[in-house]
Parts: sequence; structure tokens; C-alpha cells
Amino acid sequence: MSLNNKATLFLVATPIGNLNEVSNRTLDVLNNVSVIACEDTRNTLKLLTHFDIHTRMITYHNFNEENSTKGIIKLLEEGNDVALVSDAGYPLISDPGYELVNEVIANGFNIVTVSGPNAALNALVASGLKTAHYLFFGFLNSKPSQARKELEELREFPYTIIFYEAPHRIEKTLSMMREVFGDRKACLARELTKLHEEYHRGHLSELCELHDLKGEMVLIVEGYEKEKEDISEEELISEVEELVEKGEKLKKAVSEVSQKHDYSKNLLYNAYIKDKENRS
Ligand code: SAM
Repeated sequence: MSLNNKATLFLVATPIGNLNEVSNRTLDVLNNVSVIACEDTRNTLKLLTHFDIHTRMITYHNFNEENSTKGIIKLLEEGNDVALVSDAGYPLISDPGYELVNEVIANGFNIVTVSGPNAALNALVASGLKTAHYLFFGFLNSKPSQARKELEELREFPYTIIFYEAPHRIEKTLSMMREVFGDRKACLARELTKLHEEYHRGHLSELCELHDLKGEMVLIVEGYEKEKEDISEEELISEVEELVEKGEKLKKAVSEVSQKHDYSKNLLYNAYIKDKENRS
């Protein structure tokens, strides 16, 4: 299995839900390495049991990367090939393994990646948002004040941004994004590759109306576009007003203006009504 006469660390991507996404190569590697280093042996055991694989497992933890790394380097020194897996998707992508990979490189062992599923890319390609350039940000800081700071730093980033988020934080995160980024296009991808896979595409204001979101989710947000952000809500309201004065029905006027400026219909309608109330 080795590229030279030294042992190999295989970085093996595993399913993010649907077990049929395991490749023959993944099974070969998991069957043939001496040891599988995993985040949680109970999770990996389910995968191994499903495919009748009996390779020995050891744990590799985020909170104990240093000791876990030493143990794996020792195994490699003894000539054992090792596979690193996480609970789902790619190891090192919002998962442990960074320190290990660096130590393995420093010690001159081989590293081979075995391709497979990744939640971020699945969500990105189905989002309908630009894919030519993008940033994978992963999880925002769990402290709201830090998360807001991170979003502020990203505000003028011109390309699509991919976030991971937990269900208990998603509503707050969406509303914070709406405040910091403005009402950009976004896509919330849920339960990818699983039975209840679904995509909510729209503007952040529309995603903010979703409640009780459960399961695993990825949030894709459009990048900063100068021209768009330069149009103020006041200007949009004036455009609606102009059409209404010319005899257009309010809903049609809102729809026309929001389409023209790629702005949320709901948000513009509510803003228009609020503005009318304030002025009367
Ligand atoms: N290493 C993984 C990868 O390559 O995608 C990511 C692991 S990270 C600890 C877990 C997060 O990934 C979840 O909170 C969610 O944001 C995202 N995720 C994982 N599986 C998913 C799925 N089936 N559908 C949607 N999001 C998923």
C-alpha cells in the first residue's frame, strides 16, 4: 500500500448519511489498513459492521490531539498503515486531524486521501448560488458576540460563503446574517443524502421565517455585490410609490421592483407598509 518504503496515513472520507455512497476504494482501504483512527468508535463501528469490516479501531480526539497524534506516529513507525476517519465526511473538515497530518508530513510518512462525500460541496452545487469561487467558513464561533465579529469581517467578501450550523443556533444565525450582510440570496441545505434531504432557497429574510429546523444543515450565502448593497430600502420604496401613483397595484409594483433589484418581495412589502404607517 505504500508509496515508498514508509507507512501511509490514509485520510478517508465516509458517508454523511447515505451508506451507499461508500466507494470500493474506501472499503479496500478500511479493510487493509492495520488500524482505523476515528472520532467515536461507536459511530465508526456502525459503518464497519454494515460492510463487515473487522479492522481494529482506536480513538482520535479533538480534545486530545497531541496524545492521539503521538500514538499514531508510533504505529506508522512500526510499519502500520493507518486510516483516519471522522464521524461523517472528510476528516479535518470541521473535524479533527490537522495536527496529525502535520506531524505525519514532518516525519516523512506517506499521506493519501481517499475521496468521498462532503456536506459543504453537496450543498454548494445544489444551492443555485455562484460556484466559480467560494469560501468554506465552517462553523461560526459559538459565542454570539464573536460570531457577529466573524460575520462583520466577511461582510465584503465577494464570493459565495459556506457555513455549517447546528439546528439549535440556526434561527439566531440567520437573523444575525440578515442584519450584518443585508438581505442576500442564500440556501439552507438539510439532511443531505438522507431520506428527508431538502433545500430552502431564497433571501435571508425568507429563510428567517423558517422555524423548528431540525437535523444537520449547511448554509450557503451569496457574496458581497457592491451595486446591490448600494440601493437603499428608501430608494426601493420610492420606486414602488412611483409605480403605485401611476396606477399599478401595490403587490404588482412590489413584485416588479423586488425582481428588478433582486430584493426580497416580503421584505420590501413590509418595509413599504411600515413606511406608509409612519408617514400617516
Ligand atoms: N467532516 C464533515 C464534512 O466533511 O462535511 C463535517 C463534520 S461537522 C462536525 C458536522 C456538520 O457538517 C454538521 O453540523 C452540518 O453542518 C454538516 N453536515 C454533516 N452531514 C450533513 C448532512 N447530511 N446534511 C447537511 N449537513 C451536514
